[in-house]
Amino acid sequence: MNVVEMQKVLVADDDAINREVLGELLKPEYTVLLARNGAQTLERATRHLPDLILLDVMMPDMDGYEVLRRLRADPETANISVIFISGLDRPEDEANGLKMGASDYIVKPFNQTVVMARVALHLQVVRQRRMLERLANIDGLTELANRRRFDEMYALEWQRARRSGRPLSLALLDIDAFKQFNDRYGHPAGDRALRSVARVAGAAMRRPGDLAARYGGEELLLLMPETDVGDALRVAEAVRESVAALNIAHEASSVAPLLTVSIGGATLVAADGDEQPSDLFEAADAQLYRAKQAGRNQVWWRGVEAP
Ligand code: GH3
Ligand code: MG
Ligand code: MG
Repeated sequence: MNVVEMQKVLVADDDAINREVLGELLKPEYTVLLARNGAQTLERATRHLPDLILLDVMMPDMDGYEVLRRLRADPETANISVIFISGLDRPEDEANGLKMGASDYIVKPFNQTVVMARVALHLQVVRQRRMLERLANIDGLTELANRRRFDEMYALEWQRARRSGRPLSLALLDIDAFKQFNDRYGHPAGDRALRSVARVAGAAMRRPGDLAARYGGEELLLLMPETDVGDALRVAEAVRESVAALNIAHEASSVAPLLTVSIGGATLVAADGDEQPSDLFEAADAQLYRAKQAGRNQVWWRGVEAP
């Protein structure tokens, strides 16, 4: 995609003229959202997750400091960059605002060119931070989530499942006879094959919260929140079939003349009261082991009859 999506800036000010001036100033370059009091600022921030908030310090219902404090207290909005815009021009005010975690402090009346330059600067920092976050969470070869990201999401979804009593499904996928594939076709071809398998796994993750990750080597993870045994097993089976349908020749495999995968899975249900995250993981791994033992190119699931 060539079109760079416009960054979102929320302008929060109780003064209609200030809102309009800032809004008009920013509109040509950014998607502008407006809020006229503290409550509205919090609501818009949560709903639209802007890249930057220009936050008036003095507002009647809730001052900017309190708004910032509440933004920081909510994990969803905690990282949003905030620039204070204030009529309070004493050095203590400015220092205080920055100490609270604002990225910058602009004193009213402001110079439009300077405001634009500062906004651009902070949005560039935001862009760089996002890129670093992405790099820290994505596996370079497959472009799936990496282990670190998976661990984070697994812990989160585990808690959520425990609270909601909804099922949580986890599958481990391992490419069959991949060592022989590398030996036969070379490591670069192995990398390409692994990327293709990853693409198939990624495409199968359709629900919100679904996550395909690279666990390591040629092993992938499929995390499926709010997905019961039946649905998760169907997804895993579809992944297995889609990999075979890629029709990647593997003449050295004893399983089939093409690249295949084995998958093991398990589903957490509310009844498993004292199951730990590592137990579910080990259960999926044990099922993978059985799938391998039983001849590979198959899906095994805890509590489900052998395929
Ligand atoms: P099995 O059917 O039991 O899974 O056999 P296997 O050969 O797939 O399993 P094994 O664990 O013995 O070997 C895994 C192989 O995967 C060895 C390793 O070189 C290869 N591999 C792991 N990561 C990568 C990678 O990033 N790229 C490539 N090309 N190969 C990889
Ligand atoms: Mg392996
Ligand atoms: Mg393998």
